[in-house]
Amino acid sequence: MSCIFCNILKSNDKSKWIYETDKCCCFPDIDPKAPVHLLVIPKLHIESLSDVSSENADFISDIFSSIPKIVSKVGLKSYRLVSNNGEDAGQSVMHVHFHILGGRSLGWPPG
Ligand code: 5GP
Ligand code: ZN
Repeated sequence: MSCIFCNILKSNDKSKWIYETDKCCCFPDIDPKAPVHLLVIPKLHIESLSDVSSENADFISDIFSSIPKIVSKVGLKSYRLVSNNGEDAGQSVMHVHFHILGGRSLGWPPG
C-alpha cells in the first residue's frame, strides 16, 4: 500500500513541519488554497473519519488538542478546519487529514 502521507511520515524530513506530537504532525499543504493552508495528520494510517473507532480515536483527539497550539504558533485568530471524507467530498489522499485554512476571508458554503 502506498500512501503519500505515510511516506512523508517515514521520510523523516521534518524541515517543513510546523508542529508534532507522538501522534500527529502538521505541515504546509503543497498546493495552498489560502495564505495559510496547513495539514494536520495522524501518525497512523487511518483512511477516513469513517474508520475512526475507540481503537484509534486517541490519534484524532491528539489532533484536536494540537490545533489551538498550531494556530497560535502561526498567528491565526480566524481559521477554518476542513476534512474531506470520501471521493464525493473531494478526498484525494486516503489518510485522514484536517486542512487548516486562514489568512483571508473565507466564503460559505463551500462548493
Ligand atoms: P484532500 O484533497 O484529500 O482533502 O487533501 C489532500 C491535500 O494534500 C491536498 O490539498 C493536496 O494539495 C495535499 N497534498 C498532496 N500531496 C502532498 C504532498 O506530497 N505534500 C504536501 N505537503 N501536501 C500534499
Ligand atoms: Zn497513510
